[in-house]
Parts: sequence; structure tokens; C-alpha cells
Amino acid sequence: MKCPKCLGSMDTINFNDVEVDRCEKCHGLFFDHLEKETLRSMEGAESIDIGDEFVGARFNEILDVACPKCQTKMEHVLHTDPVEIKFECCPSCKGIYFDAGEFRDYLEDEIYQQFQEVIDQL
Ligand SMILES: [Zn+2]
Ligand SMILES: [Zn+2]
Repeated sequence: MKCPKCLGSMDTINFNDVEVDRCEKCHGLFFDHLEKETLRSMEGAESIDIGDEFVGARFNEILDVACPKCQTKMEHVLHTDPVEIKFECCPSCKGIYFDAGEFRDYLEDEIYQQFQEVIDQL
């Protein structure tokens, strides 16, 4: 699978039986289908988000991306209240892409609950 942002190749990694694809170049993360239940088993998963948030921020400006799995144009999901949560979601297969550093941020205590709710609404 190719990274939708930088076209680097993505490696499949496994965290608590959840499969995640990580780009070896920009370190963006792609989840097949991230559900609230899946998130619960992701405690400690900050460790899989090894990328540099500054690199992630740069790639975050690329808005026109195709889902790496089914090639559908991904939608930009943005929630700003009370904290900013943003990522790309595929309307077809429900795959979710995070730029480097984004996923790590959303696992922080203050944001985690809101993140779960956003995921739940997809
Ligand atoms: Zn990449
Ligand atoms: Zn897709």
C-alpha cells in the first residue's frame, strides 16, 4: 500500500491485535476501520505514532488525497470544539488517515473522550 500523502510505502504494524499501516517515509498512520471499541484497546498506542509532528503538519496541508485502500477521495474531518481534532476519513471504506503526531495528540486524557465521540459518529 502507498501513502496517500507522500506516496512512500506503508508497513503493516500490529498493536494489541489492531492492524495499522504506517508510512515509512512521513510516518502517517492509516487505520482500516477505527471504532470506539478498537480505540479502547489502543491504550499506550502513542508509541506507534513515531513521526515528527512538524513533518505531519506539513503533510496535513495536502487536502486532496485518495484513500490508499479503495482510491476514493478522502474527506477532511474537522472538529474544533473544545479542542481541534482533524484527520482524513474515507467515505467508502471508512479508513482513517492521521498525519504524523496527530494520533498521539488525540490519545491525551483531555482529548481522548472527544476523539472517541468523533470516531463514533463516522
Ligand atoms: Zn507518507
Ligand atoms: Zn477507502
